[in-house]
Amino acid sequence: MSRPPVLTFTDKGIYCPAGDFYIDPWRPVNRALITHGHADHARPGMGTYLATHLALPVIRHRLGDIDADGIRYGEKRTIGSAQVSFHPAGHVPGSAQIRVEVAGEVWVASGDYKVVDDGLSDPFEPVKCHHFITESTFGLPVFRWPDQAEVAAELNAWWRGCAATGKTAFLGAYSLGKAQRLMALLDPDIGPILTHTAVENTNVVLRGQGIPLADTVHVTPDLNPKDYPGALVLSPPSAQGSAWARRFGPQETAFASGWMALRGIRRRRAGDRGFVISDHADWAGLLWAISETEAENIYVTHGYTDIFMRYLNDNGWNAEVVPTQFNSDMTETEDGG
Ligand SMILES: [Zn+2]
Ligand SMILES: [Zn+2]
Repeated sequence: MSRPPVLTFTDKGIYCPAGDFYIDPWRPVNRALITHGHADHARPGMGTYLATHLALPVIRHRLGDIDADGIRYGEKRTIGSAQVSFHPAGHVPGSAQIRVEVAGEVWVASGDYKVVDDGLSDPFEPVKCHHFITESTFGLPVFRWPDQAEVAAELNAWWRGCAATGKTAFLGAYSLGKAQRLMALLDPDIGPILTHTAVENTNVVLRGQGIPLADTVHVTPDLNPKDYPGALVLSPPSAQGSAWARRFGPQETAFASGWMALRGIRRRRAGDRGFVISDHADWAGLLWAISETEAENIYVTHGYTDIFMRYLNDNGWNAEVVPTQFNSDMTETEDGG
């Protein structure tokens, strides 16, 4: 007698027949388990939501009045004939990998993850499993993240240079995750950190749940840039070079993303400077995480899926690409790398 796989890939998302739930579905379903609050993973219209207590405030902030339940990392829940638990993914605060066990067979859907400890998110925790669903946003050997201290030094040297020449430093970053991570790396002795509303709204939610963040000044319409010499402005990339930004006078722009590891992209971006910093695992990080799971079967979603799958197959795994609608391109969404 054969039973259906623990997780299947459907046109609505990753589905668990034994528990009748979906993981990060992209179409409305009755029961959704959500790995984290980025827009491509936490979508509106689900009957009920289950996410970590740490991820829920941001999800509620984005989706409004939803029927949602919180779960702690490591806590076990039985849904139908499946047992589920959430484990740290290290991607953004509250992000989780979701472990699903049915009749002794274990699958893990990792959502997005990074293996570097950013000091804000609970660090990535490998979970042993038989089947592992991995992202591959940066699944090419050219993606190797420099040491965080090295990036922080570059970033602060750039800001110090802007401040010394009377320019405002404009740093583009996605409002959930990347912005807070940069705040942790910036040296507050250089000057004030000013924030665009999109960034500050997320800061307010995260501070409200006790995540320690650097002091910031919200850029409101009546803020006078002259009162903040030497400032660095953190904004979504789309706000750079806009009318909103021009009121700050002479300025330099920079963008922080894993994509900055590609020289061509660095040149094409509007930003004057690019800093290589990402909320996703780099090539070595992906391979390390996959090895640690001890899974034999790997499902590859978003990013350099085909190349990454081929590498895995050539190196002893059973890997296949699965179709998902998670973002992997450079569009200016909340999860661009
Ligand atoms: Zn994400
Ligand atoms: Zn994603």
